[in-house]
Amino acid sequence: MGLISGFEDLEKRIVGQGACTGCGACVISCQYKDIIEYSEGKPNSVGECQICGFCSHVCPRYALQRTELERFVFGRVRKREEDFGVCRDIYVAKSTDNEVLKHCQDGGVATALINMALDSDIIDGAIISGVNPSIPWLPMPFFSTNKHETVRYAGTRYTYSPNLLALGKNTGEFARLAFVGTPCQIRALRQMEKILYCIRPDLDKKIYFLAFTIGLFCSESFTYEGLMQKKIQNEMGIDLNDIEKINIKGGMLLTLKNGKTVKIPLKEVRPYAEEKCAYCDDFSAEFADISLGGVGLDRRTFAVIRTEQGEKIFNQAIQQKKLDIKPVNEFARAYNLLIRLSKNKQSNARKIEEQYIIAKK
Ligand SMILES: Cc1cc2nc3c(=O)[nH]c(=O)nc-3n(C[C@H](O)[C@H](O)[C@H](O)COP(=O)(O)OP(=O)(O)OC[C@H]3O[C@@H](n4cnc5c(N)ncnc54)[C@H](O)[C@@H]3O)c2cc1C
Repeated sequence: MGLISGFEDLEKRIVGQGACTGCGACVISCQYKDIIEYSEGKPNSVGECQICGFCSHVCPRYALQRTELERFVFGRVRKREEDFGVCRDIYVAKSTDNEVLKHCQDGGVATALINMALDSDIIDGAIISGVNPSIPWLPMPFFSTNKHETVRYAGTRYTYSPNLLALGKNTGEFARLAFVGTPCQIRALRQMEKILYCIRPDLDKKIYFLAFTIGLFCSESFTYEGLMQKKIQNEMGIDLNDIEKINIKGGMLLTLKNGKTVKIPLKEVRPYAEEKCAYCDDFSAEFADISLGGVGLDRRTFAVIRTEQGEKIFNQAIQQKKLDIKPVNEFARAYNLLIRLSKNKQSNARKIEEQYIIAKK
């Protein structure tokens, strides 16, 4: 493992190119204090880099070796037919808890799994995304230790929430945590696990870091200033405090607290997509223990179980009757959409990468 590139190189090749995801992995992994700071959605240099190399190693955009990472996480690389990454099992599921169903995005599976793990003493807490108490719909990383909080912060905010920053603050090496995040965050986490494993090979890699990871399917995220303020608040005249829920099903659907639904065509929200997301080739959080998405389903979540640990957690939730499951063959449309969106993202990212290589020549 080459650990030679410092933050200066990362800043030039990733942050400066507009490819930085803003995940914050470099900030929390730096082995020195006060070298990299997280501000305005990205890492910034505030001290002299000592070139520990951790920042570039954990970055999900910097020289990530997909097959090497697959071997580390799954013990094998994906098969040719695994278009959306290594997969052990697939279900379409929903929570059996009415409180969760009231607040969740799709079937409430993410929240149901975390709640089951809290109840069963599998974890002490979970890193999720909360909401800034004074700025409506602005997500923020959140460390939750109880069901009241996980239910309150269920649902999707379509703007970026750097959940890894909460991990940096709330974990010791041996904390028992679950982590919910976007595909880029899950990739960074796995790179972090890998680097820790290289330093401490005596530790069981599945024990010392996280109990389990939940990855969210993700086409892209949007800028808060663009989508929430410019489009929805200023152009459409909707007070953000009046929005109950935002979902993407064919278009962007705003469910208002007065019961009305407003639909925004996707082509009207696309201009506010984060440019950095164009570099991403991972739709379905291909390195998570369990990956979840809505893929056009009505109040159910599509669940891809990828690891043995993910299977154990998911099965435990089924056994405890926390999840109502259906076989995936009843949902061919969602399955095909997952394949299509995965392939689209892979080929779009390849094109961007090629343009970048040509521009550098
Ligand atoms: C930016 C973004 C884009 C997405 N795009 C797609 C898509 O194109 N297609 C698709 O099928 N699914 C997409 N999803 C996933 C989908 O919206 C649901 O999160 C998923 O189906 C799980 O639903 P659930 O009801 O099981 O989760 P819930 O039980 O409602 O739990 C959702 C969890 O996500 C966390 N969360 C909320 N917002 C964020 C955020 N911004 N970043 C990180 N964590 C967050 C919450 O804290 C909560 O723990 C996207 C999610 C995000 C965050």
